[in-house]
Amino acid sequence: MEDLYKEVILDHYKAPRNKRAIAAPTCSSHGNNPLCGDEITVYVNVEGGTVAEAAFDGQGCSISQASASMMTEAAVGRSVDEVHGLAKEFRSMMAGESDPSEEALGDLIALQGVVRYPVRIKCAVLAWDTLEQALQQGEASSAAPH
Ligand code: ZN
Repeated sequence: MEDLYKEVILDHYKAPRNKRAIAAPTCSSHGNNPLCGDEITVYVNVEGGTVAEAAFDGQGCSISQASASMMTEAAVGRSVDEVHGLAKEFRSMMAGESDPSEEALGDLIALQGVVRYPVRIKCAVLAWDTLEQALQQGEASSAAPH
């Protein structure tokens, strides 16, 4: 892995952004990666179709925790549709299927080097899987009649 990318990952791991629980999130979900022992809970507040707040709590390897930290930063301020698009772009980068655009992915691009370590890919994608689960539950519950 290139040194610069390693530094970005370590920075997010040592000083994670948005690592806290949100008291009354509009949606949340828990995910784990038993292969590595990573655990993540994602909390999201969606207001008017936009991710107003995103946070996570969890434990695990540096890749899983750094990825969750970067993910919360990337998601805040974006519409739910944009977040789904970003998740798709991130997965495609981690599958080695696309050359990521730095403009779209920002710090997330630092995780591209993980593609060379197939056993760690699940660590990097865990946060996004968990975020999408949370958003889907949020969509299902807001669509349900009250
Ligand atoms: Zn891991």
